[in-house]
Amino acid sequence: MATNETTTAPDTREASPLAQRSETTARSRIRRHAERSVPTEAQRILEAGRVAHVAYALDGQPHVIPFLYDYADGAIYLHGAPASRTLKSVRAGMQVAIEVLLLDGLIASRDAESHSANYRSVVVYGVAQRVTNMAEKRAILERMTLRYFPGRTLEVDYAAATEKQMRALEVLRVPVEELSAKMREGGARGPRDADPPDGSGHTAFVVQLGGRDM
Ligand SMILES: Cc1cc2nc3c(=O)[nH]c(=O)nc-3n(C[C@H](O)[C@H](O)[C@H](O)COP(=O)(O)OP(=O)(O)OC[C@H]3O[C@@H](n4cnc5c(N)ncnc54)[C@H](O)[C@@H]3O)c2cc1C
Repeated sequence: MATNETTTAPDTREASPLAQRSETTARSRIRRHAERSVPTEAQRILEAGRVAHVAYALDGQPHVIPFLYDYADGAIYLHGAPASRTLKSVRAGMQVAIEVLLLDGLIASRDAESHSANYRSVVVYGVAQRVTNMAEKRAILERMTLRYFPGRTLEVDYAAATEKQMRALEVLRVPVEELSAKMREGGARGPRDADPPDGSGHTAFVVQLGGRDM
């Protein structure tokens, strides 16, 4: 994969609160291919993704675990069993990193080193807070269900959780402290990829994946 450029990102931040939280400190500053920074796409990517990869360090050991999630009002919401090691660890107030990826395409090049991928991805940093208010928990879970199953209506298409079930469920809010959003688009950019056929049989093409959530 060709990744030999270090460039400066154009400052495309708008008045959007989420874009203003983009790359605010060194930990989230995109250094490689900084021109691929797309802070104003961050919200769209978080709204379109379906899987959040939640990373945290426990006793010096890094872990990354996939979760369903919701994004709303500058925060990511996670839910699961209170006994989950991940939820138990992150609700204690440690820093987490959360990644969401939409894979748009695979790039084949005439040269090995120029194979690549088209993608839109976001990395969020923050600290989790427990949501304990039952009405708020219910509202978050209903919104999350609607996101995955548009048109599915509580008490029409499925029954509400009981109080006992709600008490047995942990819901965490991770306000976005800081994030980065990065996008690659277009075709192969190897040294021979724009040339006419040269008789070598080497080919360059894009396999479109249509923003497959990963
Ligand atoms: C697409 C997707 C969505 C999910 N959404 C949710 C959700 O919304 N809420 C929820 O509670 N759980 C969800 N899960 C399950 C979640 O990934 C964890 O398996 C589960 O939450 C238990 O977490 P834990 O920290 O207690 O895991 P533990 O069992 O304590 O993890 C111990 C070790 O098991 C391995 N492990 C754990 N989970 C996985 C995994 N998914 N794949 C491979 N290895 C694993 C890792 O090596 C980890 O370090 C989802 C899984 C997938 C694939």
